Amino acid sequence: MLVRTRIIDVERKPIKCPVCGSEIWDIVYGTGDMTEVEFFLTYNKPAIMGGDNIPRRPPIWACGCGCKRFRKVNPDGTDAPVKVKLLKNVRVRKAEVNIIREED
Ligand SMILES: [Zn+2]
Repeated sequence: MLVRTRIIDVERKPIKCPVCGSEIWDIVYGTGDMTEVEFFLTYNKPAIMGGDNIPRRPPIWACGCGCKRFRKVNPDGTDAPVKVKLLKNVRVRKAEVNIIREED
């Protein structure tokens, strides 16, 4: 589990990580203690586990190696409305955040 990865503000999903060149994956929240490997084996797609604690300004993409996370912002630098992927219901603090539920 990665601790305190740095978050980068972006206007759109990067194609590759600007730091290490890895693929960019979605962050899925509401994943509890699930690991990336367990998620992949269950859903057959890669994602970064966000755990159950959704930040108030949630990053929604992450580098596949986990070195950076990416938060969507408007061109003027303000927070853009985002769709947060949720595996199970956890408390979402920010009203403008839309929820996409992963298939069970
Ligand atoms: Zn990276």
